[in-house]
Amino acid sequence: MPLRDTAPKLSPEQYEKNFADITPPMTQRQAAIEAARCLYCFDAPCTIACPTHIDVPAFIKKISTGNLLGSAREILSANILGQSCGRVCPTEALCEGACVMHEKGELAIEIGRLQRYSVDYVLDRNIQLFHAGPPNGKRVACIGSGPASLACAAELAKWGYEVTIFDRNELPGGLNTYGIAAYKSRSAETVREIDLIKQLGVTFRQKTEVPRDISFAELEKQFDAIFIGAGLGETWELNLPGEDLQGVYGALEFIERTKTQAFGDVEIGRRVACIGAGNTAIDVVTASKRLGAEIVYLVYRRGEPEMPAFAYEYQLAKQDAVSFLWQTQPVRVLGANGAVSGLECVRTELGAPDAKGRRSPAPVKGSEFVIEVDMVVRAVGQKSATDFLKGVKGVELQKNGTVKINELHQTGHAKYFAGGDCTNGGGEVVDAVAEGMTAARGLDKVLGAPRG
Ligand SMILES: Cc1cc2nc3c(=O)[nH]c(=O)nc-3n(C[C@H](O)[C@H](O)[C@H](O)COP(=O)(O)OP(=O)(O)OC[C@H]3O[C@@H](n4cnc5c(N)ncnc54)[C@H](O)[C@@H]3O)c2cc1C
Ligand code: SF4
Repeated sequence: MPLRDTAPKLSPEQYEKNFADITPPMTQRQAAIEAARCLYCFDAPCTIACPTHIDVPAFIKKISTGNLLGSAREILSANILGQSCGRVCPTEALCEGACVMHEKGELAIEIGRLQRYSVDYVLDRNIQLFHAGPPNGKRVACIGSGPASLACAAELAKWGYEVTIFDRNELPGGLNTYGIAAYKSRSAETVREIDLIKQLGVTFRQKTEVPRDISFAELEKQFDAIFIGAGLGETWELNLPGEDLQGVYGALEFIERTKTQAFGDVEIGRRVACIGAGNTAIDVVTASKRLGAEIVYLVYRRGEPEMPAFAYEYQLAKQDAVSFLWQTQPVRVLGANGAVSGLECVRTELGAPDAKGRRSPAPVKGSEFVIEVDMVVRAVGQKSATDFLKGVKGVELQKNGTVKINELHQTGHAKYFAGGDCTNGGGEVVDAVAEGMTAARGLDKVLGAPRG
């Protein structure tokens, strides 16, 4: 059943313009000028702030001397997904946020764009920077092909492990391929970057779900160790009356369409309400606007100061003229002929801060009101998706469903390691990469395979 009312279609050129890179690639001249601004700090705070600790001054210095191959090697040896991270990292909260230029009252060095400049140089030319290590006779399976598994697999392959990745999706990359806003990175770019890992001899078995298509017993028989990089699951439901109406979507489901379909084929309401105020909610409201929705509401039960989205992300939504309904709680989704026609909301007042410093919202009696919308998107966080591990003896799950690990990223079962969103409960791509690499080191320590 179609939506009650859809936004008018735009021209293909307009969609491309709306979803154009928000941080476009640098020209040679721009990169040279920006690289020359760097102070090449000792104990560089930008490097310390990066979860993968890329040697930022070293790679920038190499750009300034025209050694782009060396620069890319510097980046990719610390973070094999350096291309993605150059585009999608919240740099203002990490490396660029820590740049000493702020203390001088100047703009931070554009580390993300410089990083992308160097890595694009090798990807555009299909230059193979790394090679598989001499085989050490050990085999490792990775469950999931998201950033955590990719980083873990790349490290292990460089040390001589034979690695096979099992992923249920058609394309590799996990949420980096299917979930990141299209104006930050397109799926084709992510998949191109994964060639770096394929070149290391890592085998990808897509459309293969564990344990449906290959059992744990089979994995344990075939492999010396198993890395779990299964990420998180679907968006939480709100349990509101009317949530089953046509036109109510989970954020991931909606964003995935913007990454896998032509923009003109993505169904979008004329008026859209998104519930939630985290970074994913921002991706939903900005994508809705860019797809042509005329009115887009962001509905949040707390106030603007409590909003969990990064300031930079919030700025994007403001630029896209999103309407923010602060201290507003959804009560029910209204429908006409089975399709969404509105969202009933109630105003809230905020009480005293709780132990986490978050003020609890309470509905204000009699303040109910209705906004007319054709589509409602839930963006209130992802569920855990680790139930499939319950049959594996020794692999323990925490209360929130994340996998319990020790400092080596090893689970309670000696053969199983884990990292990324399924252990940290949801972070950034760079966190998953860092954890995948730590797990690779832990696994290598435990297996004690000789290096060639
Ligand atoms: C909407 C959205 C936007 C985001 N935007 C950003 C951003 O702008 N910048 C940023 O840095 N981070 C962003 N993130 C976070 C980032 O995408 C994640 O932190 C990162 O992808 C986590 O990597 P991962 O490898 O742990 O898991 P995932 O990327 O989730 O990959 C897990 C993979 O495992 C597969 N899998 C799961 N179970 C099985 C099974 N049983 N068998 C086989 N395969 C399985 C899944 O299909 C998936 O491919 C965003 C997240 C979301 C939801
Ligand atoms: S902190 Fe800024 S100036 Fe210093 S090395 Fe890093 S990017 Fe360069």
